[in-house]
Amino acid sequence: MGNSGKILVFVDLPGGELDETGKGLLSYAARLSGTLDAPWGVAVAVMPDSDHLKTFGAYGTPSITCLADGEALLDTPALLGKGLARLALDEPATVVVLPHNDLGSTLAPVVAQELDAAIMTELVTVRQSADGVRLSRRALGVRVAETRFWDCRHPLVATVPLRSLSQVLMATVRPSSPSVSVWRPAAPLSGASVSVIGRIPPDPQTVDLTDAEVIFSAGKGCDPVTFDQLKELCRLLNVSCGVTRPVYDLGWTGFERMVGQTGRTVTPRLYVALGISGSMHHVGGIKDSRRIVSVNSDSRAPIFPNSDEGFVADLKELLPQLLDRVKAGIGGAP
Ligand SMILES: Cc1cc2nc3c(=O)[nH]c(=O)nc-3n(C[C@H](O)[C@H](O)[C@H](O)COP(=O)(O)OP(=O)(O)OC[C@H]3O[C@@H](n4cnc5c(N)ncnc54)[C@H](O)[C@@H]3O)c2cc1C
Repeated sequence: MGNSGKILVFVDLPGGELDETGKGLLSYAARLSGTLDAPWGVAVAVMPDSDHLKTFGAYGTPSITCLADGEALLDTPALLGKGLARLALDEPATVVVLPHNDLGSTLAPVVAQELDAAIMTELVTVRQSADGVRLSRRALGVRVAETRFWDCRHPLVATVPLRSLSQVLMATVRPSSPSVSVWRPAAPLSGASVSVIGRIPPDPQTVDLTDAEVIFSAGKGCDPVTFDQLKELCRLLNVSCGVTRPVYDLGWTGFERMVGQTGRTVTPRLYVALGISGSMHHVGGIKDSRRIVSVNSDSRAPIFPNSDEGFVADLKELLPQLLDRVKAGIGGAP
């Protein structure tokens, strides 16, 4: 890398836990360090306990710097952003990596402004080329693809989409024993114009499917009655609803709910395929899901070999029973 600084990745520890996003960030930073031939380190606002330090080590983290009084800063992104920027100057860091979630997207412009840095949101891939470093982003789900050159003369602040983080998770890295330090700014941080009064998690019914955690999808095996039952199930379980192309073609949902090659490429923790045959155009968009469970009345449906778990059942019988069980489970009348 032309500029001699390190890559500084900010890892939030919600409830003190190193979650999947945090682990994905560590894997992403380790890879980026190889691509840019630059050292990397982690900044945190809360000191991890010894168990989590081991997990940081399992992902090859070389160093962890905890912002003094960082926990209080978490509710004041403008100050936390200023703190991160000052830490980046002290390290010095040339690249600051943040997750593309509520916190990361709020911090990124603050850090970029403080550092007079270039900013790239939803950064996916980074490649060295003769003209400089090529940064590619995918925005608005996967609808916008853009590549820019970074000359490495200005610092760079980048946010990485969560779907990319879940794909690099568990990258093979050499385990480490990270060095841990507390960093305090030379002068107190001031000038907060924004403070967070609460955080609202995204609504699974409206969240972009590319960011959805759990998706139940309807195929042509659903009729209007079972599709309505599925939508109710999704609402009760607080999970996202997707569809195949034939279901979208029926006009039952908007295009943004369609999953597959032409629709959304999804990477949820759990994908449940209901009445979906498993064509390559659909499977291509779900294959990076962590777990695929499918239900089909045809035991030879191609979705089954592409699933972690499969059930041969008729949705007309299964969905009413599932709904009753869920309603009973949450205390409603069956
Ligand atoms: C260029 C191109 C791009 C495409 N892009 C996409 C895309 O992005 N996304 C997409 O989904 N498709 C896409 N398609 C269409 C794709 O090829 C398939 O036609 C489509 O995925 C099939 O959808 P399906 O599984 O819902 O329907 P079907 O293939 O008709 O399957 C219905 C399944 O439901 C089962 N079933 C029927 N009744 C019941 C019941 N009562 N209970 C349980 N199971 C039942 C059947 O056994 C069957 O397996 C694309 C096609 C082309 C040519």
